Amino acid sequence: MASIRTPGKINDHTTLIDACMYGVAGTSAVYLVEAGKKCLIDAGGPDGSARILRTLKGIDAFPPDHVVLTHAHWDHCQGLPDLQKRSHTIDVHAGKESIPLLEDQSWNHDLEGRKRFQSIRGVHPLLDGDVIDLDGLTLRVIDSPGHIKGHIALLDERNGNLFAGDSIGYNFGAMSLIPPFVAPYWDQEAYYATLERFRSIEFESLSLGHFGYIHGDEARQLLDEAEESCKMWWSIFERVEQEGRLDDTKYLTAVIIDETGIEVPDLKLERISLRMGLGLVNFSRTLVRKPRLSSGDLLLPLLLQMLVNGYMSSKGME
Ligand SMILES: [Zn+2]
Repeated sequence: MASIRTPGKINDHTTLIDACMYGVAGTSAVYLVEAGKKCLIDAGGPDGSARILRTLKGIDAFPPDHVVLTHAHWDHCQGLPDLQKRSHTIDVHAGKESIPLLEDQSWNHDLEGRKRFQSIRGVHPLLDGDVIDLDGLTLRVIDSPGHIKGHIALLDERNGNLFAGDSIGYNFGAMSLIPPFVAPYWDQEAYYATLERFRSIEFESLSLGHFGYIHGDEARQLLDEAEESCKMWWSIFERVEQEGRLDDTKYLTAVIIDETGIEVPDLKLERISLRMGLGLVNFSRTLVRKPRLSSGDLLLPLLLQMLVNGYMSSKGME
């Protein structure tokens, strides 16, 4: 796939910053867009703000004039309070329907079940078609619900780069596209309508929240891949539900790997405690002659558990 997954410049105006969700590299990206003014797209989670701040200061881009939050999930907005502590001049924007979800984050929880997230207030509402003017470059707002209500994408009209947040899906390393059906606001029809809307837009490249910059033919092809993969994953989940084994993550993981052909990526663990933990696990596995695990082997079941929750909540099962 024609892609850039390393931190740094992805075009003349845009820098990819790795917010390293859970201390794992290549999991969560935010983007700085610069012309006469500077705009940060998404703010990462609470554990990513130090890294974002360090990067912005290192390229003399703090504080940015604007932060736009593509949506209200914690891993896109909870890095913001830390940035705001260090500057009171940042204008923060999000889709209109995201505003109440940002103000009351009690519905939000992470992979570890953490729920105590800070309220995000004073956010300017954006509507479809609105423009953020960066003095030499414009970012056009495109409503893109499905993954969650209030989700917006931003089109950099100068570079033809579409910042899609989580609206298309998750794409880690060598992994194929994982559909983003998560609780509690997944809307499958809206998701397919968003993909269709994106097809009608002229863009050359995609910047994904999870993860990276995709360009060339693959950028547009990803929309079809997303639609196919959502249908396939959903039907697998339905079948596993009928088998009564949705709570058997080990089984579900094996079925998903077998039937979707997904490749489990080996992402770099930035947090030392994670590296030590995986090292210990693999040391004990070699003693009993089991194959070593990669970071992806540990992350995939967590991700699948998140999708099980999304699937069940959208079927009214919890
Ligand atoms: Zn999300």
